[in-house]
Amino acid sequence: MDHGGAFRDTNKQPIGKRALLLRLILSAQPITRSQIAERLGIDRSSVTDNANPLIREGILLEESALDENGRRQRYLSFATDRNIFLGVNLGVRHSQVGAIKLDGQILDEDEFVTPPDPKTALQTANQKLRELRRKYADLPLSGIGVGVPGMTDPLRQNLIYAPNLDWRSVAVADGLAIEPGVPVIVENDSTSAAMFEARAMMGRADSLMSDFIVVRSGTGIGVGMVIGNEVYRGTGIARGIAGEFGHMTIVAGGKPCVCGNRGCWEKYASASAAGSLYMGDRAPRPGQNVPRFLDIVTRARNGDNRAKSTLEKIGDYLGIGIANVIMGTGIARVIISGRLVYGWDFIVGPVNSAIERSIIGKVEGWSVEAGSPAGAAGKGALEVAVDRYLTTL
Ligand SMILES: [Zn+2]
Repeated sequence: MDHGGAFRDTNKQPIGKRALLLRLILSAQPITRSQIAERLGIDRSSVTDNANPLIREGILLEESALDENGRRQRYLSFATDRNIFLGVNLGVRHSQVGAIKLDGQILDEDEFVTPPDPKTALQTANQKLRELRRKYADLPLSGIGVGVPGMTDPLRQNLIYAPNLDWRSVAVADGLAIEPGVPVIVENDSTSAAMFEARAMMGRADSLMSDFIVVRSGTGIGVGMVIGNEVYRGTGIARGIAGEFGHMTIVAGGKPCVCGNRGCWEKYASASAAGSLYMGDRAPRPGQNVPRFLDIVTRARNGDNRAKSTLEKIGDYLGIGIANVIMGTGIARVIISGRLVYGWDFIVGPVNSAIERSIIGKVEGWSVEAGSPAGAAGKGALEVAVDRYLTTL
């Protein structure tokens, strides 16, 4: 399949084997040159061509150590303490900020309640980023990654529309530019979760990511796609909007959604849909609170049948939507991210049966597994910053 110019970064550098190679080193370090060559299916000489200039610059280190068979090997890894990255995930209810080193060491993490208007939210995030920057002022800042719950412009600078926040056309990168010359990259939160999962997968010696979908279910639902080892955002003027499956209609004439339509997938299969499903769509009595997703999971663990059947219903709706996404994208490996992961043991069964039932032609070989809720939050945003940096080396 020819994806044309789809897999190009905002700076128009083609993302090729080099960025992939650097990502592999970062995910699986320390790693030998032969291991890299084998896992990427490339020649050792092309590993050398890419690695040697970076070793000379001090960005990569090569150190000798004994392998498990007692043989001396030379291992590549990224030098630490050269720079830091900052990230902020602007969530619908809560936002996270963090600082990370290139080797993945999290230096700091913090959370704040997202102010409802974009201007105050950006001011708050800006202030939090500045605080972190001051704390780690001794190291250069190489990038700021931002996760947003909506679609971004093709250059990954602005948020176009976030339905659950009712924000439109927000100049996010401008609002968070805390240091001259330091790039701010604004990414859809499901795409950043996909980037996080992609690298987590790369770190495992048995798998090299290639094609998969991340379904992020939290306050809403978003889908991130990785095709041919790269996140897919859409093409041309529609770049930045791919994966907006949360608002596909799953129940005709169903529950009203913030987007103006009815029966959207996220009204039935997001973590935040659990409360109203649990209440049987009845309004809470005075003094009664609609339980949150994590409360429902706790109740289910304590044997509450209504809580269990709520999670099973979510699993059923989730599976119906996933079958649609698999059929629509032709990608059969699915990873679940976001708050929903906390209740996965109750949800996985119904998800699998719903997919089995709904998939056309009884396609075989699909898989759905739980990823990490962290990728859907601050760590995904940090991944965006690190990933951008790797494409510049
Ligand atoms: Zn909707």
